Amino acid sequence: MKKFYLLAAAMLFAAASFAQQEKQKAIFYSISFPNAVHHEAEIVVTIPQAPSGPFKIRMSRSSAGRYATHEFGKNIYNVKATNVDGSALDLKQVEGDVYEVGVHSETVKVSYTLFGDWTDGTYTCIDPSHAHLNMPATFMWVEGQDKRELKFEFNDLDKYGWKVATQLKHDGDNVYSAPNMQYMMDSPTELSAYKESSWTVNNNGKEEKINLTIHSDDDQATIDAFGKQVQRLVLEEKAVFGELPAYDYGEYTFLDDVYPTVSGDGMEHRNSTCIVQPIDKVGGNEIRLLGTFSHEYFHSWNVKRIRPKSLEPFNFEHADMSSELWFAEGFTQYYGELLLVRAGFHTPEEYTRTLAGLINQVLNTPGAKKYPATQMSRYSVFADAGVSIDPNNQANMFTSYYTYGGAIALALDLRLRSEFNLTLDDFMRTVWLDRGKVMKPYVIADLQSDLAKVTKNSKFAADFFNKYIYGIEKNDYAALLAKAGLVLQKAQPGKAWAGPLSYTRNRGRSGEARTNGEEGLPVQVSIMGTPIYKAGLDAGDIILKADGKDIKDAQGFNEIVAAKNIGDKIVVNYKNRTGDHETTIVLEENPAFEVVTFEKAGKTPTKDQTDFRNTWLSTKVKL
Ligand SMILES: [Zn+2]
Repeated sequence: MKKFYLLAAAMLFAAASFAQQEKQKAIFYSISFPNAVHHEAEIVVTIPQAPSGPFKIRMSRSSAGRYATHEFGKNIYNVKATNVDGSALDLKQVEGDVYEVGVHSETVKVSYTLFGDWTDGTYTCIDPSHAHLNMPATFMWVEGQDKRELKFEFNDLDKYGWKVATQLKHDGDNVYSAPNMQYMMDSPTELSAYKESSWTVNNNGKEEKINLTIHSDDDQATIDAFGKQVQRLVLEEKAVFGELPAYDYGEYTFLDDVYPTVSGDGMEHRNSTCIVQPIDKVGGNEIRLLGTFSHEYFHSWNVKRIRPKSLEPFNFEHADMSSELWFAEGFTQYYGELLLVRAGFHTPEEYTRTLAGLINQVLNTPGAKKYPATQMSRYSVFADAGVSIDPNNQANMFTSYYTYGGAIALALDLRLRSEFNLTLDDFMRTVWLDRGKVMKPYVIADLQSDLAKVTKNSKFAADFFNKYIYGIEKNDYAALLAKAGLVLQKAQPGKAWAGPLSYTRNRGRSGEARTNGEEGLPVQVSIMGTPIYKAGLDAGDIILKADGKDIKDAQGFNEIVAAKNIGDKIVVNYKNRTGDHETTIVLEENPAFEVVTFEKAGKTPTKDQTDFRNTWLSTKVKL
């Protein structure tokens, strides 16, 4: 009896503690905007059943999908901790973005002011037109409490005429919730007077609702018409995988923000995407805008559900490194552009420029020549919105995993079509069923085994991964494109070329500090393998003369090069910190490729080539 009694008591105790855990109250965030005109929000976090003893509450240092570190802690201040009765608690800032709350009662309140003035897919912007909230940039979180439910109360909506667009669950009135911290971080929220267009898609006999919310100066008719185009795109994407993901709460939301001063961006989430486009209106720009929609929506399969193990769960305290972004981003890049052709928004003719862009990246950049796609993926922790004031050498050691991976996807698609009578869609569907649909995070070896499975040829899969994913060999793009009646050829055959002296980059660089009126042409970049690089010119050098003529700007230099032939020499006089110098540039042919149709090149494609091209680029939607 005693024994039984003890056992029963133990079970009772276990049940009680389980029930208590179940009953743990949500952490409650209240956000208000008394000073939106100066880009501030006031946030109060109420933490019931706070961890006993001192605990840490912090801002994030990273944001899922934007791989560099971000010091979100820099934009919060007036941080205070109190008991529920308002009595002050001891609060220590122990790191830039981490605060420690001292001895406290059961419920703790932490309040702070948040500044935000940057509208994109990572940061937060607060002004009277909207509160554009990306969660890692907005909300502090309690260390060790990431499994708890979180609730959000969005205040001042009537004051500004705002509505709430988000993938968070609507609990009623202005209160929304997330089951845990990871989900909250994935749920950007737009408070504004946005316009909306919604529709349903039949998915395996169930209705899924797709919402398009756009904060812009367009009228409702424009948004509805654009919604029809997005609807078309959604069906084309669904056709690749054969089904939509089962979206949480049965809904997916495109959160679009269109205004000339916002930052161009797109960020994927499980059941939504945050798209930000720096133009005046949607109306008149629809086709231009669709590219970001196409890419981000594809992510609702590839990366949000077909998930690399390296990113799961996402760590918000430091950069999350992944060797798989050539697939997660690169294959998404390939499909984002391809599906615009399949859906009829771009012509095959227009698509040849996209193809040339991918191929030039993989064949003509120093990064792709030296390093594999896996290594370039890992560099994302520095390249993806990484901010620092010193220059980097990306022009000579980095090729974006977007285009590198996109070019690999292109080659694999064409090889599956020509060697196996399969398509990349078949491969993506296999990866979806084996990894994404069942939410089993993958490693690269899993992708290889899925390729072996779909081709029934493990030797081909091993060879492809060893050469083009882990290795730096390149596929034969000219031969592959010829299958589709496309020609890969030099873009400027027979024309003399010295290499670029400048290129677009995110941040400042040598030469930028110069003021107008200074003599010469500053070199901003020197790319390995170009005649300029071989001549010893580098960033920071000032070109004074070329071929004996004074050089004042890039145009003057380019005119001299254009008048020469391949193999000609140009004597260049330049200066830098070590004085005046002279060097000789030996001109070469520009290595850049272009892709043109057989028709445009004056050749007649065979029926096989025409069929191959049509099967590849035509719609897969059965209307
Ligand atoms: Zn992406």
